[in-house]
Amino acid sequence: MKRLNGIHLPVKKRTEDKQITPLPLPKTVRIPMLMHSGSPCVPIVSAGDHVDVGQLIGRAEASDAVPVHSSVSGTVRRIIRYELPSGQTVPCAEIETCETQLLADTCIPPVINTKQDLIDAARESGCVGLGGDGSLTFQKLSTNHPVQMLIVNGAECETRLSADGRLMLEAPEQIIGGIELVTKLLKIRETRIGVRRNRPAAIQQLLNAAANSRNITVCPLPSDYPQGAEKVLIFHTAGIAVPDGQTPEELGILVLNVSTLAFLYQYSQTGIPLVERVVTVDGDAVTKPCNLRVPIGTPVTDLLDYAACEPDRIHQLLCGGEMMGECITFRASVVKTQNGLIASNTVKTYEESACIRCGRCMNACPLSLMPVSLDKAYQQRDVNQLKALRVDLCMNCGCCTYVCTAKRPLAETIQSAKALLA
Ligand code: SF4
Ligand code: SF4
Repeated sequence: MKRLNGIHLPVKKRTEDKQITPLPLPKTVRIPMLMHSGSPCVPIVSAGDHVDVGQLIGRAEASDAVPVHSSVSGTVRRIIRYELPSGQTVPCAEIETCETQLLADTCIPPVINTKQDLIDAARESGCVGLGGDGSLTFQKLSTNHPVQMLIVNGAECETRLSADGRLMLEAPEQIIGGIELVTKLLKIRETRIGVRRNRPAAIQQLLNAAANSRNITVCPLPSDYPQGAEKVLIFHTAGIAVPDGQTPEELGILVLNVSTLAFLYQYSQTGIPLVERVVTVDGDAVTKPCNLRVPIGTPVTDLLDYAACEPDRIHQLLCGGEMMGECITFRASVVKTQNGLIASNTVKTYEESACIRCGRCMNACPLSLMPVSLDKAYQQRDVNQLKALRVDLCMNCGCCTYVCTAKRPLAETIQSAKALLA
């Protein structure tokens, strides 16, 4: 099969063999009311309230929101303003933990017999796309198009990240349980799981767990970046090129991440909403790279302490991977979408120069865009040309910046161009 473009990144998976370990209970958590793409929740607790694990603390009033739950037992100290990496500020519950951790009595397994039950459960659980995109899972499940195929994203193509990889090794039966739940209720006949071929142990674990399931295929993917990008994943698992202007949904394809499916399965069994997640902690400044299971809202400094990382050695902190992660500060907390915390002791800076028209950026772009022309159109603030060049399709994967001979910050410029259009 033809391959979509992309780039080969150096392998830096220091954490691939690090088992998922629970982080000791933090003293305080700060849980923002917006951890998904959409509208923020409204806090329904105030200073002095006692809360337990899984208790609702933020109500989803808008249709593009999912509720927020407490990740710990403790006392709400105050509602503060929390600054997201985008600069937007949202309300945030600061909770001091207590010694005894108890589940809220609302945590009971939901009854899920129909598609609508599953959609409702996905919403009530606070589920979002755990691969990092923060999409609302209940919205994806609510599709009106008949779904022919479920494509499961186990690509995890960012350097250093291995949270999904560990889950595939340690709990493949939960992923398969999630697949069976979704395919049964959405009447999906076929499932394809995409895993990079340089993860043979994960592929084998999934094959073993799926031995008694029908119509589940594990598809080994190239080891290039960005295999986890939706269009690239669909192409390399199903051989389907999603045309510009069409969505996977319109083609009868539903894409969900391995961690999201495992969570949906766990929720169907326990009724415990999304209150924790696995985070890979790595980077040049980290002495003890690890995969940690942490309550949502845990200060990132707690993770750095555990990973034997001295703050004064850190020059850059990223939420997510090295290619698509967002810069955060020491005041940040772990959010639902955070699959990685990367601490670097150096920040590479390059002197950019004029384009030499080598064409490398165009060869690298997985979506066949023309980064060099987008860059030029943005410099000229040529809105019509930006539209004609389909700037809206750019997924900010960073491949063009990575390969640019002239060290031009193409991906960043293209994001500015998208903002200009918006
Ligand atoms: S950042 Fe956008 S333009 Fe650049 S390679 Fe990725 S998708 Fe293409
Ligand atoms: S890779 Fe850089 S130098 Fe080469 S064509 Fe693209 S923008 Fe120009």
